[in-house]
Amino acid sequence: MILEASTIPNGTVLRADVCVVGGGPAGIALTLTLASRGLSVLLLESGRFAADKQTQALYNGEVTDERLHSPPDKYRYRRFGGSSAIWGGRCMPFDPIDFEVRRHVPFSGWPLAYDDLLPYYPAANALAEAGQFSYGAAQALGPDAAPLIRGFESDRVSTEGLERFSCPTHFGQRYAHRLQSAASVQLVLGANCTALQLHNDAQSIRALQVSTLQGTRFSVVPRATVLATGGLETARLLLASRDISPEGVGNQHDVVGRYYMCHIAGNVGSLTISRTLRQVRHGYERSPEGIYCRRRLQVTASEQQRLGLANAVARLHFARITDPSHQSGVLSGLFLARKLISYEYSKRLNDGDATAATYARHLLNIATDPLDTAAFLGHWLTQRTLAERKFPSVILHNRTNRFSLEVHSEQLPQVASRVMLNDQCDALGMPMLRVDWRYSQADIDSVRGTLDVMAEEFEASGVAKFDYQREELEHDLLRFGAYGGHHLGTARMGCDPRTSVVNADCQVHSVRNLFVAGSAVFPTSSQANPTLTLLALSLRLADTLASRLSGLATLHLSTQALSEPRHRTAAIP
Ligand SMILES: Cc1cc2nc3c(=O)[nH]c(=O)nc-3n(C[C@H](O)[C@H](O)[C@H](O)COP(=O)(O)OP(=O)(O)OC[C@H]3O[C@@H](n4cnc5c(N)ncnc54)[C@H](O)[C@@H]3O)c2cc1C
Repeated sequence: MILEASTIPNGTVLRADVCVVGGGPAGIALTLTLASRGLSVLLLESGRFAADKQTQALYNGEVTDERLHSPPDKYRYRRFGGSSAIWGGRCMPFDPIDFEVRRHVPFSGWPLAYDDLLPYYPAANALAEAGQFSYGAAQALGPDAAPLIRGFESDRVSTEGLERFSCPTHFGQRYAHRLQSAASVQLVLGANCTALQLHNDAQSIRALQVSTLQGTRFSVVPRATVLATGGLETARLLLASRDISPEGVGNQHDVVGRYYMCHIAGNVGSLTISRTLRQVRHGYERSPEGIYCRRRLQVTASEQQRLGLANAVARLHFARITDPSHQSGVLSGLFLARKLISYEYSKRLNDGDATAATYARHLLNIATDPLDTAAFLGHWLTQRTLAERKFPSVILHNRTNRFSLEVHSEQLPQVASRVMLNDQCDALGMPMLRVDWRYSQADIDSVRGTLDVMAEEFEASGVAKFDYQREELEHDLLRFGAYGGHHLGTARMGCDPRTSVVNADCQVHSVRNLFVAGSAVFPTSSQANPTLTLLALSLRLADTLASRLSGLATLHLSTQALSEPRHRTAAIP
């Protein structure tokens, strides 16, 4: 059943086996799995099917330096489906090395191993509609798949790995019907959890306070609570719940909100490949099941360990869109149309003040490249706008075999990088967030080391040459600040409560019936985008909860009020 929160009478107490707070990918995956295991689940979601400004404004807050990090109401969506309403759909698992203790990565080492998560990845992949769980080119594309660059062979840099793309699946739209028809699920839309209330001994959750923007207030008394509110909001809820513990829930050691990581990313250098265009796999390939896949370069795990490098990947990319010297009408068209593109996807097109001469050169590119521009528009319309499985991003045929490298690197965790509460409140009276994201010189040095290995290996192979301006690297990587949309580590997983918030079961150390689903629990960030792994962790958490609560399931949501006809059920649009 799907309910509208503002129609639930003030003072109502709702009960369920599990209350999941947040209906993004993590919360939806968890709810569906728990329901299939016979548990009653109340899924509280702040947003509704459509975006609305008042609800989105609940994500307002401040950042210490807007050049380094976007405001907290950007790069996350407070609506049913969460940020999957806008995500790019790039999927890949973490690597085994990400889970290990690495001497060169401070605070590294997960309390679980890659093999503990592996059984959950295929189902996570299926939920994201990314096809089979196979992330090697030979396995995914077949043994005859052409190499990334013909003639490039290296023991130190692998080109075998690939990423797969979701539709991209909007989890709210995709799974609404399944949630509605699951007998033991109540999805309540427009329901904002504003506080977690602890029992006096501070060891378990007593109730959750819920408010709507229409002024309704009610509470939830579940047997277990899971926060699936995203990497920033989870920390906010824990910190803002101060009735029993003034420092916030699970925050005895001042860890909640700290170790905040994003990814370090940017376009760097110039790679010239001495091969014909057909001998380079630059764009997307389709697997036999029709999934878009893309190759990438990665320094091998043993070389990372030997050289003390963080985990990172690089993809072949075209020249900077903002620089008209690329002579591409399509790229210039994108640059000129950037004001029509959402903040999240146009941020990297706003590179300094473009002069009148720059605009003129972009216009000239369009005028002198009409065929390519028209062909691109036709392709985009049919393969992206109108297609169910969308072509993932702008990729152009490269006429020159000159590329840049698009780097996506793990960020090293550090205590000082953090999110905290500020002294302003949102419309529901909850303190807003202040984001103080920091990076370190070690982050930049690690990317430099990675690029140096790649440059050496290209040189040694004789098929390519890679140059970049070493002194410009920090500027290139931080030109647009932290990579947006990946909010990691604010309730990190570990064995020691002095340096972590949850244990290997995603349970808040000090609170036996409180759990976290999502990228907040990542103790380290990997090279990989986060969603596939947070889905796998959510499925694993569902198993944990099912075995802890099984046999005692409250098969029906026990709430008198819910059976009253006054409640309006929300229709799926
Ligand atoms: C532009 C962009 C592109 C991206 N591209 C990729 C990509 O290609 N690959 C990838 O892996 N990841 C990508 N991401 C990241 C991806 O979207 C997130 O990892 C994913 O959405 C996280 O899922 P989640 O369920 O943990 O959190 P969210 O998606 O943030 O969902 C949290 C949910 O909780 C709700 N909520 C929040 N607070 C409350 C409250 N107090 N009470 C009730 N409900 C609440 C919200 O409304 C929301 O529905 C991208 C993100 C952005 C912004």
